[in-house]
Amino acid sequence: MSVSNTSVNIAKFGGTSVANIEAMTCCAKVVENNKNTRVVVVSASAGVTNHLVKLANEELTQSQIQAVLDDITQIEQAILDGLGKPKVIEEKLADLLQSLKDLAFHEEILHRADLKDALLSHGERMSSLLFAELLNQRGCKAQNFDARKVVKTDSTFGQGAPNIELIEQQARKLMSPELDNAVLVTQGFVGSDENDATTTLGRGGSDYTAALLAEALRAETCEIWTDVIGVYTTDPRITDKAKPLPELSFEEAAEMATFGAKVLHPATMEPALRKNIRVFVGSSREPEKGGTWIVKDCEQEPPYRAITRRKEQVMVTLTTPKMLHAQGFLGKVFTIIANHNLSVDLVTTSEIAISMTIDNPSNSVAANINQRVLDDLREICEVVVEEGFDLVTVVGNNMQAGAGVASGILSAVKEYTLRMICFGANPHNMSFLVGADDSSDVVKDLHQHLFE
Ligand code: ASP
Ligand code: MG
Repeated sequence: MSVSNTSVNIAKFGGTSVANIEAMTCCAKVVENNKNTRVVVVSASAGVTNHLVKLANEELTQSQIQAVLDDITQIEQAILDGLGKPKVIEEKLADLLQSLKDLAFHEEILHRADLKDALLSHGERMSSLLFAELLNQRGCKAQNFDARKVVKTDSTFGQGAPNIELIEQQARKLMSPELDNAVLVTQGFVGSDENDATTTLGRGGSDYTAALLAEALRAETCEIWTDVIGVYTTDPRITDKAKPLPELSFEEAAEMATFGAKVLHPATMEPALRKNIRVFVGSSREPEKGGTWIVKDCEQEPPYRAITRRKEQVMVTLTTPKMLHAQGFLGKVFTIIANHNLSVDLVTTSEIAISMTIDNPSNSVAANINQRVLDDLREICEVVVEEGFDLVTVVGNNMQAGAGVASGILSAVKEYTLRMICFGANPHNMSFLVGADDSSDVVKDLHQHLFE
């Protein structure tokens, strides 16, 4: 079979899709059903990365470390058993478990970001090894491919920034010639820097890997296979009235991912947008149910498309009397924020104060708000930190231009206390903070008002 690169499809399978041998078997069928699928990107099996994050970040006793390692081993071993324990794969898995163990017990693991990433990479390295073997056993020729040879990043461990040109160069050199011979099964989330040290792309980064490889290989489509039948009007776990969306634009999908829709990693749409690659989101268990196509131009551009929620937001309010006619205060604040590698989402300002929200998820590998940032900020202003908020965002089109769009949203949530309403900087969203206890009700009420 000859494959021209323009018809290549990249298929990415998330953690639940490769959680065990049954789930993996569904994925294998999905791969076999599309002859254009020449590259497969896998996440770590469900739960494994959370275990690894624990090993990398938490102060644990020797026996606690061993217990976490045992949990991971059990997940991998069950899949290996399902494959009939082929000798070669058993040995390769044992090697990976050993190097994982060495890192978990490494005395500097809690203090060295490079070791953490080396450790975190093991989830995807194990799942890709096992999934490639499954495809081979089923008669679909596959090769486990080391993503670190291609996915080159800078040395920001925990949040490596991809080097797009280098990735394209490497993918064309090392992957393209193989595409006719075998399906390449590679690791999401994992990359390497210029010294070939292992890096990672941040939690949920496997989607991003798939999109980056799609871009590098000039793929026509990129499929994100997960445990839901596409992107919904809102998280179906919040309301069972949520409906799957057949179609979304790149911009809408990017907004949704940025503002908390868990189905896609926020950076995923960037490569798709650059190269106009159509992205599909669907369920590997129920591929026949279809899914969501994310495309450049949608048939319809409704003012309200979806509602997202992002939990664990921190609101930081900075006050200085000096802001009155003072120049450069914002500049100083954002320099401090940038020096600590924090990303700010919403900002509101008044004459003497600015409030901003900072994403502060507890299971993040990236920088979180901490005492050092606060100390630096306190040198220039008064700082109040408030926790316990969720960020709710309505995503849509031409929102700033249409009459009544904002009031349509606000009237649905008039019972609740909203903080930091942000609207108008971008045609695709309106966001606000609400107390974490209220957020499910807020989303339900909004959903009913806007979509039911
Ligand atoms: N395994 C990584 C995570 O759980 C990356 C991914 O699944 O996309 O964050
Ligand atoms: Mg994911």
